Amino acid sequence: MMGTVVTIEVIGHGETDERRAERANAAARAIDWFQRVEDCCSRFDPCSELRRISERIGAPVRVHATTLEVVRFALALADETGGAFDPTVGDAMVERGFDRHYRTGEAVTVTRGVPATYRDVEVDAANATITLHRQLQLDLGAVAKGFAIDLAARELSPFANFAVNAGGDLFVGGHNASGDDWSIGIRHPRDEAAVIDTLRVSNVAVCTSGDYERRSPRDQGSHHILDPRRGESASGAASVTVIAPLAMVADGLATAAFVLGPERGLELLARHGVEGLIVTPELERFATPGWSRG
Ligand code: AMP
Ligand code: MG
Repeated sequence: MMGTVVTIEVIGHGETDERRAERANAAARAIDWFQRVEDCCSRFDPCSELRRISERIGAPVRVHATTLEVVRFALALADETGGAFDPTVGDAMVERGFDRHYRTGEAVTVTRGVPATYRDVEVDAANATITLHRQLQLDLGAVAKGFAIDLAARELSPFANFAVNAGGDLFVGGHNASGDDWSIGIRHPRDEAAVIDTLRVSNVAVCTSGDYERRSPRDQGSHHILDPRRGESASGAASVTVIAPLAMVADGLATAAFVLGPERGLELLARHGVEGLIVTPELERFATPGWSRG
């Protein structure tokens, strides 16, 4: 789902059959959230709410609370980073060859007129509407998965001990099957088989943005995180990992810090009071003061 594999683990010990069934049902509902968020937020699905907004330039379009929340958070992050993070990168992504639905293979095309930025998007929270003031394509790829992880985690919270893992972006609650904090390996950005760090955590989200995740089909030298100010792949980091209470926050901040690079990236994480690790392409490590090795 969402172009990745979602794994959900919910721990139960010596429980009744009824409790076991409840646990399985909760896991199924948790998985469903990924589909529901994707139905709202996919820029590849012609029926998604996100695509409907792009079809009505200049008009307020009523949207579901999910879409509203994700767009609102993305715009706030865009504002805070001066456009280093910008959810209007959809057209630029298409131009770089990121133009196909991962499941159907259906291609999307560029909608662009005049180059647009996040300032061309208006959210009216009171009326639950979004207005695009220019032709543009929203792209929530940097935050929507985090939101889905949060909704899945909320579904599983009555069970206390669980993990939601969406392709390495995750939320872990309580303890693992052995009764310990969850152990999370952070992939080495230049060696698929190695970890660059290990965490021991509980009741937090951990999200990683890496330049190794998706290469441009048009140009193998460039990847899927854009620096919109330069119109090129961001090059200040090779990977960024963020630990935060919510996965949408960890997901968004990881992408934003990736674009900002080590110095300004760490400042951003400090402002939000979250921990993070930024690894540069030269494999230099920059961590927040509270970053702890497992
Ligand atoms: P992530 O893997 O969470 O870092 O998100 C990467 C995805 O975010 C890309 O595949 C794009 O869909 C989107 N994206 C790329 N560059 C940016 C940017 N500068 N600001 C916001 N979203 C971006
Ligand atoms: Mg992200």
